[in-house]
Amino acid sequence: MKKIAILGSTGSIGTQTLEVVRENKDIEVPGLAAGSNIELLEEQIREFRPRLAAVWSEEKAKELRTRVSDTDTKVLSGMDGLIAVSVMEETEILVTAIVGMIGIRPTIEAIKAGKDIALANKETLVTAGHLIMPLAKEKNVSILPVDSEHSAILQSLQGNDRKQVHKILLTASGGPFRGKKQEELLNIRVEDALKHPNWAMGQKITIDSSTMVNKGLEVIEAKWLFDVDVDQIQVVVQPQSIIHSMVEYMDGAVMAQLGTPDMKLPIQYALYYPERRYLPGERLDFWKLSKIEFEKPDMETFYGLKLAYQAGRAGGSLPTVFNAANELAVSKFLNREVKYLEIIEIIEDCMSVHQNILSPTLEEILETEAATYERIESRR
Ligand code: NAD
Ligand code: MG
Repeated sequence: MKKIAILGSTGSIGTQTLEVVRENKDIEVPGLAAGSNIELLEEQIREFRPRLAAVWSEEKAKELRTRVSDTDTKVLSGMDGLIAVSVMEETEILVTAIVGMIGIRPTIEAIKAGKDIALANKETLVTAGHLIMPLAKEKNVSILPVDSEHSAILQSLQGNDRKQVHKILLTASGGPFRGKKQEELLNIRVEDALKHPNWAMGQKITIDSSTMVNKGLEVIEAKWLFDVDVDQIQVVVQPQSIIHSMVEYMDGAVMAQLGTPDMKLPIQYALYYPERRYLPGERLDFWKLSKIEFEKPDMETFYGLKLAYQAGRAGGSLPTVFNAANELAVSKFLNREVKYLEIIEIIEDCMSVHQNILSPTLEEILETEAATYERIESRR
């Protein structure tokens, strides 16, 4: 039996990971952690019987403890709870399906404890890749991507020498506002931005996909996962989300992974890597599929992507500013406190005043996050 723990088990990736667990009969789940949805977490506890569960707020944890007092599951809370679930003795893989850079500390602790990481939580790698990748190497731990593009890249690298990679072609759907110009985005409402053409995902990443900040985060994520320069990564808009990403080699050969949009494939691939397993679901039908289109990304309208390249090139603490500013700006947009276009204006403003720290420690990353939040809060 394979044993995994999941941070963010009630979210989009978390629940799909549990579907993969259900479909395969050889995975146990000794640890689950979630933010606040204790109703769903209770159901998951009853079904998967974990030894540990964690909820962010102590108040919710208390309520959950009462609800599941008839089970053997111990309920913890806060950062201590997240870390306890991340380092459990019996688990081999930690699935980081939590959203935001709050995942940094638990991920680092899990690597120190020798756990392989099935990484969905891109914000962690974007902000702390320079700490995580060397640590993983030192601890002989694998960081396996759960992002569809990065999983496609990993699949396209199989059987080839990584030294012969010329560039990475990171595909993007372009989101719901592809083809629009700035003036058409002035009055975008939360409901409009939450309509992704191809993928059903958590709210934060859905907004990020609409601004193309998600693609920017993925460029930096790819830089760390595959040890390439950001300028070796080219974003290619492919609106149908059929090609999940590609790798171009020195001789000009391009390898790609194609498929229907279903996150269960990257999740299952990460959990069983390098083995492939049967996965039920829709298949690509090339007789019905009439065309696959390609476009250059519009980095003037969606200049969050341009800012991501800038942050990724500079490295240091600038990617933390890019990410932290986006996290807070998006949550403010979701709360209808800022307008759609302000998301990117806020990121640009925070980046423009930041004094870059070249190789920030974990403390400096967290301080940079706090300083970025402070600047945003004092904007008006
Ligand atoms: P989501 O909002 O659906 O789920 C987030 C999960 O994290 C929830 O279970 C929530 O309870 C938990 N969480 C949030 N704050 C927490 C806290 N303080 N303590 C404990 N748990 C907390 O998000 P999602 O779409 O599943 O995305 C998760 C991560 O995966 C993100 O980093 C996202 O960028 C990445 N990702 C998602 C998809 C997708 O298809 N959804 C694809 C690629 C990458
Ligand atoms: Mg992705």
